[in-house]
Amino acid sequence: MHRKIRKAQDLLLPSLFSSEAELNLTANTNIYVLMANISNMAGMVSLKKITVGQLMTNCYVIGSAGECAILDPGGNSKLVMKYIEESKLIPKFILATHGHFDHVISVDELRKRYDAIFKISSKEVPIMKESETLIGEIIHGADFKAPKPDETFIGHTKVAFGEVELVGTEYPGHTPGSTIFSFDNNLLTGDTLFAGGIGRIDVGGSEADMVESLEKLWTIGEEYKVYPGHGESSTMRREKMINTIFKYAVENRSLLSYKGSRIL
Ligand SMILES: [Zn+2]
Repeated sequence: MHRKIRKAQDLLLPSLFSSEAELNLTANTNIYVLMANISNMAGMVSLKKITVGQLMTNCYVIGSAGECAILDPGGNSKLVMKYIEESKLIPKFILATHGHFDHVISVDELRKRYDAIFKISSKEVPIMKESETLIGEIIHGADFKAPKPDETFIGHTKVAFGEVELVGTEYPGHTPGSTIFSFDNNLLTGDTLFAGGIGRIDVGGSEADMVESLEKLWTIGEEYKVYPGHGESSTMRREKMINTIFKYAVENRSLLSYKGSRIL
């Protein structure tokens, strides 16, 4: 994978990849993120995916004009710090799409190091608390203490740093305050929408909310890129074509009788 990315890099726009941070693309960086880096260079926005923790959560670092936001820091904080420091970025915000432990476990560690504001939907505060118990059920012997948000929001939020503004919108279903953050034509979908799947609704979620959120998502333009909380990146065009449970939910306004396979 590493070699493949380097080759694509050379092929596409070699002059843009002058800094060491850009050249040191890890095996976790997929081609979609690489493309996003290229397309966002002109707008001075970079998007880096770092897969972290035992549940392979995608942590994203969105950088602009020397500042950044860290989304879903669910483990491996040293790896995230290494990228931030090599890229000479100053973290202004730590954000989470939702409060499950695998998306917020490194918040406090990062806050100790950086003067950044931790922001999450207020509806996710109880979810983080419940995650203190949930972690032991999923990862034997693991421990987690819910971080206290510096700021919360209900429904929508806007987060500005560098020269970019991230828009956060709640799409409840996976959890009550699950939030999708977006900038330009990029959607950071958390555990609401995956490449080829949707998030589970049995850990603090709701089927009715999920169906409504998926219906709303379906109306978003096909040109949007999808960066989920787990797994590979995608596009809205691709998800509308191949994501059978997404399609089923929108067509049937239900998930209950869905017979196909389901991930996470
Ligand atoms: Zn989750």
